[in-house]
Amino acid sequence: MTGSSAAHGPEFDGLALPAPELQPITLDTPLKKALGAAKASALGKAFGFQTVSDLLSHYPRDYADRDVLRPLAQLTPGANITVIADIVSAREKRMSSRPGTIVEVVISDGGGEFILTFFGKSSQQWRLDKLRPGLRGSFSGKVSAYQGQSQLANPSYKTFESEEEEARDDPAVRLRHKPLIPIYAATASETSWNLQTLIDQVLQRVGTLPDPVPQDLRVEHGLLDHTQAIRWIHSPDKKEQWMAAQETLRFTEAWVLQCALMQRHSIARERRTRPRVPTPGGYLERFDAALPFVLTVDQEICAVEIATDMARSGPMNRLLQGEVGSGKTVVALRAMLAVADSGGQTALLAPTEVLAAQHLRSITTLLGPDLAAELMPALLTGKLPVAQKRKALLRTVSGQSRIVIGTHALLSDTVTFFDLGLIVIDEQHRFGVDQRETLRLKGAEPPHVLVMTATPIPRTIAMTVFGDLDVSTIRMLPAGRRGITSIVVPLADHPTWFQRIWTKLAEELALGRQAFVVCPAISPAEIEDGADAEAPPPSDDDPKIPLANVETVLERLRGFAPLAGYRLDALHGRMTSDEKDRIMRSFAAGEIDVLVATTVIEVGVDVPNASAMVVLDADRFGVSQLHQLRGRVGRGGVPGLCLLVTNSRPGSPSRQRIGDVAATLDGFVLAELDLALRREGNVLGDLQSGDGSKLRFLRVAVDGDMIADVRRAAYHLVTGDPGIRTNAALRDAITRRLNESERSWLNKG
Ligand code: ADP
Ligand code: MG
Repeated sequence: MTGSSAAHGPEFDGLALPAPELQPITLDTPLKKALGAAKASALGKAFGFQTVSDLLSHYPRDYADRDVLRPLAQLTPGANITVIADIVSAREKRMSSRPGTIVEVVISDGGGEFILTFFGKSSQQWRLDKLRPGLRGSFSGKVSAYQGQSQLANPSYKTFESEEEEARDDPAVRLRHKPLIPIYAATASETSWNLQTLIDQVLQRVGTLPDPVPQDLRVEHGLLDHTQAIRWIHSPDKKEQWMAAQETLRFTEAWVLQCALMQRHSIARERRTRPRVPTPGGYLERFDAALPFVLTVDQEICAVEIATDMARSGPMNRLLQGEVGSGKTVVALRAMLAVADSGGQTALLAPTEVLAAQHLRSITTLLGPDLAAELMPALLTGKLPVAQKRKALLRTVSGQSRIVIGTHALLSDTVTFFDLGLIVIDEQHRFGVDQRETLRLKGAEPPHVLVMTATPIPRTIAMTVFGDLDVSTIRMLPAGRRGITSIVVPLADHPTWFQRIWTKLAEELALGRQAFVVCPAISPAEIEDGADAEAPPPSDDDPKIPLANVETVLERLRGFAPLAGYRLDALHGRMTSDEKDRIMRSFAAGEIDVLVATTVIEVGVDVPNASAMVVLDADRFGVSQLHQLRGRVGRGGVPGLCLLVTNSRPGSPSRQRIGDVAATLDGFVLAELDLALRREGNVLGDLQSGDGSKLRFLRVAVDGDMIADVRRAAYHLVTGDPGIRTNAALRDAITRRLNESERSWLNKG
């Protein structure tokens, strides 16, 4: 925290005056009561707001200065924008093809000019009277591109001249007439200045807001009080005010979130359940005795952490992270065997059918024939033939199968366990908090929960998104791994190297191995979903070089002499999931030598014989994405080779990024780097905080230290006062967050 509390004294602005004739309102007052049914329903429809708190938490995304025009950096077609600009010219034209007129207004934002178009059935002279050259105002609408020009079609607008007229008649408007104009995320019907007006109305009536951050923390971190922060965020006189308000609200957000997570963690721990400990001479002992290798130190440590958790009378809630091949499955299987020793069952939940089937195979192999026969690991997925499914269901309900592996079909009502003691979830990213809950309810007593992820999770994300889980980490790979060699192939410097790539690939194939070729696009016209999402825009690259795409590359490779006789096939997101499964299976069976694919290659799919990967246009992928892709080769006893091919220029950020990926195999290092590199808007994307709500000011890329501080303070508070009885404002703030996240889950479903 840099702001000092002394600098922002309690200087109240005019908005603090309550309007005497109106009922006072609180944060939990329904908008219907505060603003009337019509406005409340419009806000509900546009943004899902229900209460005063929802509206006041809709913070401005920017501020515009009445006196200083600022060029808009980017006008992305489809974006809803609000811009302060000067009118340069305005003219009316008759339409050629049909009756009516178009008014074309050119406005300037200080940098570029762009065009507003208004379509009218008859003369729009009245509009020309209002939109006179020289006037300044705000303009709000959806950006579209027309003949290469960005424009706003039929935007809403408000000139400052008309605002001044209003201000002369209405004292409320006069109060609002400040040098800084808050710009809100808006919709076509709810414009930024509508929102500003409504928020101002509400602010005039809320009075003092309770503060969820305790006084001592506020003083220690130099924060504003909550009332001041909310007023200054919406209605600042100067930049310093909204900046100080943001700082305070960012801290507040972290604080409320961490307290919520700590509380959930402590409530989960207070639940009673059956400890699950191995029995002497039992399954686990037999398994360990037969294990053909020794666990790595990291595996040992994680195993002890898990065993300690499961020996307690409160359920385990643990995240086990480690890269593909680091040996998570073995560690998880040991936990399953401890549960089996206690007479219980484990449900192992995988994100796809393919991965579920793969888990069954690898677990059966690891168990060996005797243990497998006794523990009867079963597969239970939606696609199973009816007879097989019935058998699996029966073995699950009777408790014969001690390990039941499946997709989300395991969540269905028809699945009943005899004694569910442990839930293992593979790849948390695709399972929501609510799905974890559904599965949890299938145990007579709350089962222990182990979440496995192969995506290294940066510390800050672990604290915010998985903040209610304890974390175990496997960093090292088992000894004897042959590793992956990564090489950057810079075509910008050496165009002829393109041929050499395929010669090198042919050499690998000649050794009897298989290979992946990864492209960002499916066809010349079709970029794969998500392929481009993580990478920064290709600003430093030549946009005229078309992206590598599966169709073209496959065709070229099929005609390339050194690859003659090898079987090449394609895999991409436009195929049905059955087709994708079929291709993936025949690749795994060795019936395809080279798979030319987009990023749809399953995470975690194990083809030990695949030794080489060529990533074309590697600069189009994010750091973590490249690392994940690369993890698909070099799985077996053969060394992996990964060629990262790029047209980006030497010294450019993209080249740097690819070089970083080539330079290390440590996924944790790369995950932190990725987080630091991602553009602000992309950092969380749709990722939600650990309580399911959206993050507002909190930025996991930069707020790590603050979040860690806050987490410690939250731990102290919740340990001493698990019910948060001593702080009603905090309790209410947590409830509001949970309500909000519940609503967003409902909206999704
Ligand atoms: P993950 O689930 O993390 O991807 P696995 O548990 O599937 O990793 O392990 C990958 C491979 O390495 C498996 O074949 C497994 O038997 C083997 N393995 C696991 N731990 C070790 C170890 N400590 N030493 C040698 N091999 C190991
Ligand atoms: Mg695995």
